Amino acid sequence: MAWDNFKKITFRKKKGISDGLWIKCNGCGNMVYKKRVEEKLHVCPECNYHFPISYENRIQFLLDENSFEERFRNLEPTDPLGFKGLKSYSERLAKAQKATGLRDAAVVGSGRIKGHDIMFAMTDSRFMMGSMGSVVGEKITRITEAAHEAGMPLVIVCGSGGGARMDEGMISLMQMAKTSAAMGRYKEAGGLFISVLTNPSMGGAMASFASLGDFILAEPKSLIGLAGPRVWQSTVQNQKIPEGFQTSEFMLEHGLIDMIVNRSEMRDVISQIIQFCPPRIKAQAPEPALAAV
Ligand SMILES: [Zn+2]
Repeated sequence: MAWDNFKKITFRKKKGISDGLWIKCNGCGNMVYKKRVEEKLHVCPECNYHFPISYENRIQFLLDENSFEERFRNLEPTDPLGFKGLKSYSERLAKAQKATGLRDAAVVGSGRIKGHDIMFAMTDSRFMMGSMGSVVGEKITRITEAAHEAGMPLVIVCGSGGGARMDEGMISLMQMAKTSAAMGRYKEAGGLFISVLTNPSMGGAMASFASLGDFILAEPKSLIGLAGPRVWQSTVQNQKIPEGFQTSEFMLEHGLIDMIVNRSEMRDVISQIIQFCPPRIKAQAPEPALAAV
């Protein structure tokens, strides 16, 4: 208690320091020195909370230097329903594109992890919470087919808290079937799919490709599930939801995931999996995909 008070006093004194040197940790609630957090790959040095990171950082931390070659970059979302909530979908898209420099929430391509050639995809939670619309679904499908064709391992890092993107209605929901079908063909042929779940991995992404890994790894204390804890609590009003519900640790205990891996060790673990369980697939052309929408 005395120490807590001391910390509060200490930070009050730092008020005059220029903004941006300290950030508040969502895990322990403490103010932590930003540079120290960045040195630890955007992980809190006090409680090991893994901050969400941009696609640029993810590529930098996970893949071999300069090995990433982006594919299907030109795919752009449209507004097929003319959807309008508080703001129109077109407006929200434009805002997210401007803020992130991305065209949509997924970035896919080829790369290497400790010398192993892989096909790689990730969703960036900064872009409309990483939700899956037609472009995310199409990119995930295409990169899965590229891994199938090349006989390469596939690594997908999920940072999707938004699930299926409601602004695209049924077209968005179809992506769950489309990505799962491509994944099914790839795995049946002997592919190796390593799914990495990060905070958050929820909804339609989690209910499709993200939960289909031959190996499912997760960063510590990530929110993982279908609907969020508040939605669950409102549907089971008479029951109390267990503590830690829908965290990586809870999912590991209940068998949904295989391993919790710190960000700093993710490269080593993925590299070892590829080394010990290489894909049995031979390079070949996949079956034609479902009609792209
Ligand atoms: Zn912390």
